[in-house]
Amino acid sequence: GVSQLNGPLKPRYVRVNTLKMDVDSAVHELGKLYKVQKDETVPDLLVMPPGSDLHAHHLVKNGRIFLQGKGSAMVAAALEPEADWEVIDACAAPGNKTINLAALMKGQGKIIACELNEERVKRLEQTIKLSGATNIEVFHGDFLGLAPEDPSFAKVRAILLDPSCSGSGTITDRLDHLLPSHSADNKNYDSIRLHKLAVFQKKALAHALSFPQVERVVYSTCSIHQIENEDVVSSVLPLASSLGFELGTPFPQWQRRGLPVLAGSEHLLRMDPEEDKEGFFIALFTKTNKLDDLKS
Ligand code: SAM
Repeated sequence: GVSQLNGPLKPRYVRVNTLKMDVDSAVHELGKLYKVQKDETVPDLLVMPPGSDLHAHHLVKNGRIFLQGKGSAMVAAALEPEADWEVIDACAAPGNKTINLAALMKGQGKIIACELNEERVKRLEQTIKLSGATNIEVFHGDFLGLAPEDPSFAKVRAILLDPSCSGSGTITDRLDHLLPSHSADNKNYDSIRLHKLAVFQKKALAHALSFPQVERVVYSTCSIHQIENEDVVSSVLPLASSLGFELGTPFPQWQRRGLPVLAGSEHLLRMDPEEDKEGFFIALFTKTNKLDDLKS
């Protein structure tokens, strides 16, 4: 029922910004106020009891820790960028995953953070500033407009694609569906909206796969809908395999995988709104880099 969806049981996750602070110091500092544990799945992620209110905590204010859900933190980790890589964050604002990438890359290499919406570019820039990362270049524009053959992307090895989605895996969105105003009209509107989102998601994923030197692409949503998740992956599989990509398995020890509606669904990762207190989806595409093959 509503009380379950309302999230009193949802643990509070924070990611330690390892560009500014080490994990053990954060555990020590936060441990003065709350019971703190290291997350068992995601490095640098800490779990605190539901209701822990950290919005005004000095570690949040000065960018040493970021309030970031577990699903969100799994995305950058799934990409596993190496420190000296060039990486594109295709749909970047407000930048939680961008600065997560920066931390995983130890502040080295280069991240191109692309964002279409001008207001959201400002939020992205604020997040980056707070994180202290200096290896991020913000690009205000359409990811679909970036030309894969452009020499400025010749060294890009990985792309994180977290496009606009319905947000149906988040609590507020699921509560909306319980309101009386959620009429047949709304449902019709929802299905049109989902279809439009899926069209963009498919285009953007196909575009990400087409950058010549890219060998890892992560696609993620905070949606529970098959049309935004498995169906998007399914639609690009022929293109992906023609380019030499296969599905990788992010967090192989994780139990909940994709809906069994395509071959390889066991590689996909799902978080379940009931079991995990949030709905999330992650797909990973990998290919062996041709240049590396030639070198060896
Ligand atoms: N990855 C972000 C984070 O973790 O903080 C959240 C990204 S949000 C789900 C999707 C973002 O994509 C929105 O800020 C939206 O404005 C942006 N966006 C939508 N279409 C885009 C496009 N064609 N090119 C670049 N950004 C786009």
